Amino acid sequence: MNPCFPGGRPGCWSFALSTQRTIMNDHRRLGRELGIFDTDPLIGSGLPYWLPAGAAVRKAIEDYVHELERRNGYQHVNSPVLGKRELYEMSGHWAHYSADMFPPMNVGGEEFVLRPSLCPHHALIYRSRGRSHRELPLRVAELGGMYRSEPSGVLGGLTRVRSIQLNDGHVFCAPEQAAAEVSAALDLIETAHAQLGIEAARYRLSLRGEGDKFVDDPGMWARSEAVLREVLKERGRAYDEERGEGAFYGPKIDIQIADPAGRESTLSTVQVDLYQPERFDLRYAGGHRPAMVHRSIVGGIERLVAHLIEVHGGAFPTWMAPVQAVVLPLSDEQSAAAGDLLRRCLDAGLRAELAPAGRGSLGARIRAHRLVPYQLVVGPREAASGEAAVRLRDGSQAGAVPVERLAAGARPSY
Ligand SMILES: [Zn+2]
Repeated sequence: MNPCFPGGRPGCWSFALSTQRTIMNDHRRLGRELGIFDTDPLIGSGLPYWLPAGAAVRKAIEDYVHELERRNGYQHVNSPVLGKRELYEMSGHWAHYSADMFPPMNVGGEEFVLRPSLCPHHALIYRSRGRSHRELPLRVAELGGMYRSEPSGVLGGLTRVRSIQLNDGHVFCAPEQAAAEVSAALDLIETAHAQLGIEAARYRLSLRGEGDKFVDDPGMWARSEAVLREVLKERGRAYDEERGEGAFYGPKIDIQIADPAGRESTLSTVQVDLYQPERFDLRYAGGHRPAMVHRSIVGGIERLVAHLIEVHGGAFPTWMAPVQAVVLPLSDEQSAAAGDLLRRCLDAGLRAELAPAGRGSLGARIRAHRLVPYQLVVGPREAASGEAAVRLRDGSQAGAVPVERLAAGARPSY
C-alpha cells in the first residue's frame, strides 16, 4: 500500500502519480506484455531472450545504427565473443577488470574467457597489417556480444544483464586527430538520440579514481583528459565531473539517462585511450603510436530497449515499431482486398499484419492494435479503389495514403 493514500502530506499526489507512472511503464512488466523479452531460470538470470516483437525492435535499431555508422566512415567487422586469457592480460583487463569477468574455461590445456569488451579484438584487427598515415582515422565498428559476471542479486529485466549486445566502435587515429574524432562521435550520439526519442539526463566527465582499478600513469591520464575537456569546452556543453567513474585505461564522456524513478545509468560513451595502443604495440607508418577512441553511440542494446520501452510506454516511433501497419477489413467481404493490401505493405518493407473481421468489431480490433502507428481500415470503398483509410494511433484520420508513402514515413532519417 502506498502510505501517501489517502490524504497525507502536501505533494503526495504528485509523488503518487509519478510512482504510478513508474509502475505503469516498468520495462519488465511492459516488456513481457508487449512480447519484447522474457527470461527462463533454465537459461539463467541476467540472460533474457528476445521474443518476436523485441527481435523486430532490435533489428530496426541495429539496422539504423549500422547505416548511420556506414554513412559516417565506419567499416564494420565481426569478431568472436571469447579469446585467450593472454589477450586480456595484454589488454590490461586481467589486471584491472577481472572481478567483472567470467572465469576462464579450460579447453585442451588453453584458457579462454568470454570477452568483457570488444577493444582487444579490434586492436588485433588494427595490427593485423601495416597501417599508413593515410588510412587514419580508421573507424572500426561492431555490434557484438560481451559478458559481465554480475552477481545474481543485482540482475533484473534488461537493465542489468550478464550477456550484452554492445554497439561498439574504435577509432584508431593520430593523437592530433583524437579531439575531432571525439567530437564527431558526440555528433553521432546526439543524432541517434534525437531519432530514438531519447533525452540525456546529463553529460558526465568520468575520471580516474584511487586504487589498482586504474592504470597508474598520471601523465597519460592528463593527456587523455585534456582531449575530452577541450571537446566539451568547444561544444559548450554543461557537464559534471566524477572521479572513479573512468575506464581502467582512460577517461570517458558518459551520456547519462534516467529511468522514470530517476535512477541514472550510462547509455552512450566516448573515451580516449592511450594505454591499449601501447600494450598492443600499435603503430602506423614511421613507427608512430595511434590513439584509440572508444565510442558507443547507443550503448548496449538491452539497456537501450529497456529505456525506450519506458520512455515511449510501448508506443515506439514508427520506424522501430514491432508492427508498423495493421490491416483491418470492415467485414469478410473485404478479406481479399485486405490480403492484397497486406502483401503490398510487406513488399514495400513495412512490418505489417492482418486483423481479420472474425476477430471482433472494428473498435475492438483497433483497441487491440492501439500501439500500431498505421491502422489501415478497408471498407467497400477502399476495397474498390485498392487503398486504405489510414487511422493513426492518436485517433486522427490521415485519409487515403498510398502504401509507398506510408513506407517512406516509416523509415528513420540520418
Ligand atoms: Zn573499447
